[in-house]
Order: sequence, then C-alpha cells, then structure tokens
Amino acid sequence: MKRKTTHLKGIVFNAILLIILLFTYSCSENVEEVYIQEEFGEVPEEIKAKLEKAGFDTSEGLRTFRDGYIVETDIFLTEEKIDALILSEGDGPTSEHYRTNNLVEGCRTIQVFMDPDFGDFMQDAFDEALGRYNALGLRLTFARTLNENNSDIAFDAFFERSRLLGFSDGFPVGGDPAENIALNTFHYNDAAARPDAATTIAHEIGHAIGFRHTDFMNRVFSCGANETVVNEGAGNDGANHINGTPVGPEAGSWMLACSNNTNRPFTNNDRIALNDTYGGLTITGNTLVCTGNNTFTLNDVPAGSVVTWQATPGNLLVQSTGNGVTAVLSANSSSVSSSGTLTYTVTLNGETCNISTNIWIGRPASPSSLFGPSLVSYGALVNYRGGIAQGATSYKWYLPYPYNPNASVVVDPSRWGIISGGNSRYMTAIAGPNNGLVQVMGVNACGTGGAKIMNVTVTTSGGGGGIMP
Ligand SMILES: [Zn+2]
Repeated sequence: MKRKTTHLKGIVFNAILLIILLFTYSCSENVEEVYIQEEFGEVPEEIKAKLEKAGFDTSEGLRTFRDGYIVETDIFLTEEKIDALILSEGDGPTSEHYRTNNLVEGCRTIQVFMDPDFGDFMQDAFDEALGRYNALGLRLTFARTLNENNSDIAFDAFFERSRLLGFSDGFPVGGDPAENIALNTFHYNDAAARPDAATTIAHEIGHAIGFRHTDFMNRVFSCGANETVVNEGAGNDGANHINGTPVGPEAGSWMLACSNNTNRPFTNNDRIALNDTYGGLTITGNTLVCTGNNTFTLNDVPAGSVVTWQATPGNLLVQSTGNGVTAVLSANSSSVSSSGTLTYTVTLNGETCNISTNIWIGRPASPSSLFGPSLVSYGALVNYRGGIAQGATSYKWYLPYPYNPNASVVVDPSRWGIISGGNSRYMTAIAGPNNGLVQVMGVNACGTGGAKIMNVTVTTSGGGGGIMP
C-alpha cells in the first residue's frame, strides 16, 4: 500500500529537501560541493594542463563558466588569459600574504563601478570595502564611479544557483588591475544581507590587484576538511611571500580561499601585506618650518615617476614650488605664523596622484582661549587653563608683575608665583598682592607666539590657602 503513494510523497519530500539544502547553504559554503561538480561541464585536459603550467591548482574549485573557467574557486580566466599568464614572468604564485608577480603600478586612484542592480545593502557593503582599503593610506586609492565605461574595476551582478559567490578575472595585467569582478546575486542581495558581503568585495578586489589566497598552501584551513585541495601551487604567476606576514594560513584573513560568511576586516597581517605591497609614498621631514632651511623628502617613489612639489601659503615661504623628491622650505620671516601644506604630485604612465603633509610655518598661533578666575584672593592658589595654540609644542605663562616663575606655596607671598604647569596649558599660581595680567603663549622651535590675556584683580579679604576653581 505504501508504494502507491510514493510518487506524491516524493514530490513533497523533494520540496522539503530543497528548502533544507538552501537553508544549509547559507550556513556553510561546503555543503554543495557535489552539486557543483555535477552541474557543470568537464574542463578539457588541455586546459587543465595549461592552468597547472600557469601555477594553478586544478583538482578542486575548477569549472567551466561562460567563455572560460573558474579556477581556484573564484578566479575567472579565459584561455587567452591563461596563455598570457604562462608567458608572464616569475617562478610561482602564492596568495594573500602572498602576491603575484603582477601588480598595479604607480600611485593612482582606481575607479570602481558597482552594478546598480545591487540594492542598498550591497551598495553599502561596497562602500565599506573601498573604505577598508582607503583607510590604509595606500598608493592606490579606491573611488566609486557611476560610469562603468570609465572604471578600472567593475562589479557586475550575475545570478547562478551554485556555490560560486563571485569571481575576479584574474590578476593585474600590464600594471592595471583586473577589470571585471562579478558577484552572484543568488548569495549577495539585500534580502540575504550576508555578513561577509564587504569582505567578499574586498577579497575580489584583492585578486584584481594581485593578491592570492592566504591559505593557498592549504585550503582545508578555510574550506574545511571536505576540501580535497591541499596546495594550490605557485606556478608562473608568482607566489611571493610577503615579509612580516605568516608563511602559514591566518584565521580571519580577507584572502582566505573560502568564506565562512562572517565579516572579516583586515587583520594586522593583512595590513602588513597591503602596506608592504602598496604602501603609500611617505613624506619625511620636520613639519615645523622656521627661517632656516628645512628639507623634506618623498620616499618610495616608483622608478620613472615625474615628481613636483608645491607648498602653501607660498607668500610666507622663501620658495614654494619645485621639482624632484626633495623640497627645501624656509619661512621668509621670523614673525610669520601659519598652518600650511606641502604637496607632492607624482606622475607615472599618465596617472597622477598627490601626497600631502600638513606643516606649520613660524611661531605658534595665539591660544584659542584662557579660562580661570579674574577676581582672586590674595595668597590663594588659582588654576588657569589655556586653549590650544596651533603650532605649539609647549606653553609659557606670564603673571602680574613682578612674579616668581618657580614659586612655592607660602603664606602672604610677596609676589605672584607659578606653582606648577608653567610649560603646559594647565597652570597653578599663587596670587600675590598686586593686580595685573595673566598671559599664556604657545612656544615652538621658531619662537613664542602671541598671548591670550586676562586682567586679574586681587582682593585682600580672602587670605591664603584655598584653591579657587
Ligand atoms: Zn579568492
């Protein structure tokens, strides 16, 4: 009797199974391994051989896709690109804390396009991912563009019921990032609101600028025990370990081969890897510019760059523009006092970027404020607080004249005196018998800046001792 109802029950059972599979899917990236292998066509042995020659592992995470192949889970390569990689220099690729031999050249802004087919959640994740890179101050700055035709990297949406989260079309070519990245809206959509959305976007950008999987040598680390790939191999693309990062896999790295659907901002080692590979050009030099010559240097400039510099405000400086990585600045007077900037412009291969540092020219500005009592009791301890003086490295106080700059607490002092804090913004004084001015000034190596002043009147009714607020 039971057999007669099998067909109907089978349909119900399959529907339930499908729901369970989809649900499980969102919890683990490994459950659909078999599903993938059954669904897509075999990759020709000839292609496998080429991929292995180019340094890719082909035993897992390899499948046909569009007019090419998904390699190592999320790298899309056409046959032409595989051929090009074989020809590229190098003796073996590696991953995250490993980079390929192909990197993005120069100091430049990478225009990134995000398909408007993605909703608000994914657009926010996109901004978050770009922000993570930009927060590092790398020589690559990532900016959102709304024009796909003008983009350096474009994120496009595709839909596929598979384990594939997304992919990058390989590594940089000719000094430019890989152009195309695609994310599967089966996984990445506003309703799913996956916690790893920003991480996956940052991960695919990582490939596009030349990073390989952190755990390329052992994908079991992130992909789980079901993963049969033990080592993705190095090959001709270069698997160059980055100094200062672990040789082995690192938990939480943004370039792990498989996502566990958690948010993974850059780890310390990720930052080391990114800084070592794309560390920003740095300006060294004393940022306080007095009347003597003060030399600045722009460091880590790529070979072949054309460098110019400009400092502002130019009317306060002896020279305010020049060429080359060395800039010599000098204030044109000992009386000047101003904030300023020194900006280098670096041009390489038609790409231009600016690197700036804030400078201070001359003496400090006057403190922004002066707080404390203007009516004080003779012999009292009184506290005064100066506001910040821009450009100051320390502070100086004057009290009603005559005063003692290093006084002790005594009864009935013959004059005003500084008890403590005479070099800081927070000063405690003992009030002498006479009225006068309390003044605070900023001090730096160029001199003493203008004062903030308060008129103070002494009353004789109080007598010594207590501290007034
Ligand atoms: Zn990847």
